[in-house]
Amino acid sequence: MIKYDDIISKAAGAARKVMKKSNKVVEITKLNLALGEIKSDIDIMFKQMGKKVYKAYENGTDIPEDIESICSEIKEKYKRIDDIQSKVAELKRIKICPECQKEASQEDTFCSKCGYEYETDDDSE
Ligand SMILES: [Zn+2]
Repeated sequence: MIKYDDIISKAAGAARKVMKKSNKVVEITKLNLALGEIKSDIDIMFKQMGKKVYKAYENGTDIPEDIESICSEIKEKYKRIDDIQSKVAELKRIKICPECQKEASQEDTFCSKCGYEYETDDDSE
């Protein structure tokens, strides 16, 4: 014979279990969010520290050899950035119409103001 009270108490127990479980999930989610924030703070701080170390390297401060080699690699990459940016600027270079002096972009074939036909590029690199 099933007692009514037993059914009620079993149901209450199951409900408590579900509550505990969902509280746990909420708590874990909160903790994981906190972890993520702390980790991203640390990443930002490492980045800041790296920039300070690089600045020290550029100022000629004595730094450990392994760190100095990374700094010199970074310096090389900065040089590459400069080279690439100059190349881009060169490619974007404007040209001036010899007839009316209006600025035109490198790929224009006709002057938009006077219709002058630009000489075509010789396709050399
Ligand atoms: Zn023109």
